[in-house]
Amino acid sequence: MSKFILLGLILTVPSIFGEKFRFDNYALYKILPKNLGEIKFLQGLYESDNRFDFWTVPGPFAEFVNVLSSPEHRNDLETFLVAHDIDYEIPQFNLQDAIDREAVKPYVRSDLTTMGWDSYYDLDAIYAWMDDLAKEYPSIVTIIIGGTTFEGRQIKGVKISHGTGRRIIFLEGGIHAREWISPATVTYITNELLTSDNEETVAAARDFDWYIFPVTNPDGYVYSHSTFRMWRKNRRPVRDTFGVDLNRNWNNNWLVVGASSDETRDDYAGHGPFSEPETRTLSTYLASIGDKIDLYLSFHSYGHLLLLPFGNTTEPLANYNDSMAIGRRAMGALSVRFGTQYKTGNIAEAIYKATGGSIDWVKETLKVPLVYCYELRDNGTEGFVLPPSEIMPNNLEVMDSLLDMILQARRFGYMSGGFEVRASLSVILMALLAKWLYN
Ligand SMILES: [Zn+2]
Repeated sequence: MSKFILLGLILTVPSIFGEKFRFDNYALYKILPKNLGEIKFLQGLYESDNRFDFWTVPGPFAEFVNVLSSPEHRNDLETFLVAHDIDYEIPQFNLQDAIDREAVKPYVRSDLTTMGWDSYYDLDAIYAWMDDLAKEYPSIVTIIIGGTTFEGRQIKGVKISHGTGRRIIFLEGGIHAREWISPATVTYITNELLTSDNEETVAAARDFDWYIFPVTNPDGYVYSHSTFRMWRKNRRPVRDTFGVDLNRNWNNNWLVVGASSDETRDDYAGHGPFSEPETRTLSTYLASIGDKIDLYLSFHSYGHLLLLPFGNTTEPLANYNDSMAIGRRAMGALSVRFGTQYKTGNIAEAIYKATGGSIDWVKETLKVPLVYCYELRDNGTEGFVLPPSEIMPNNLEVMDSLLDMILQARRFGYMSGGFEVRASLSVILMALLAKWLYN
């Protein structure tokens, strides 16, 4: 059964019976190419054989490649791997078991204590929770609408602001539907900014205006909960199938490399740049505040990577050296708590060439000084179906890195925030002290 047919079945069967697609005995392979020759074989399979769901792309720097196979095609996949002498492990023999363990929890409206980070939440829960935050912190939290979706939903977010005139940190989550850890990270950061008494977190919350969108692909996210857990794209009907990859649809080197014009593929770039309401409306919203944004972070999973623009070239463009230095130090801070090692690099040098993503457009069009994309936990063992027990460790280490990123950015002369005010105050105090001492 090709992926095309498989998707066709998924699209018709559940709509008739209202059922979720089950991944019984679907196996996740962690393929370990030893050299570029083996990666080339895997690239050939990736490009030509739609029966397999490549969770990671066999780029030239891939240390592993994850492939999901239905039970009926496992034999063919293993025959291919053995024939080319390619090593592999099978970390998941039955993906449905892992999906069953994800334990999505309900959120009880008006009860902020029912939101947590030991399980995943659906779109209604996240949106209701954000509404409640605005009610709980009326002078600090405002609901913001970043755009609309193909199916007519709002791209809802929150703005956290302790006053006017501050520079902006923008958080973009959930543009790929199945990467559930992304919204779980972004909602956690939001909660920390409002409730933490950690000094650095309090300062970060006060010194910047935070624009936070946990789910920028709401239609896809809903579908990944209701019907097909492995959904990535939005939900636009295209010929006999559905969906455009919203992170290949931005108007920056659209469809140049690492994106597809084949609508059945998961990296289908759409029929033109910004063809999708989600990217069109969100980019318009971004443009309206673009000159105030100091830091833009996009959250994806997975692979333990911190990526910076651009996806079309390994050339160190724009402020590459500063961005790398700040990013590397922040990933050093990330590693302290649990030892998780992130690699930092531009998209093309760290994973593979791919264009039409949000961070390239934000960097080039809005000229935002610091722009990064996190590829969160894990490293190919559970992939998109990250166990709920890993949500908090992931969130804690990311929060550590975010605070350090702000610190490093200030050291490098970016992101003054409230720092300038404090710095000038201390300069005045020092001058007064010196005057008093020497008089
Ligand atoms: Zn992604």
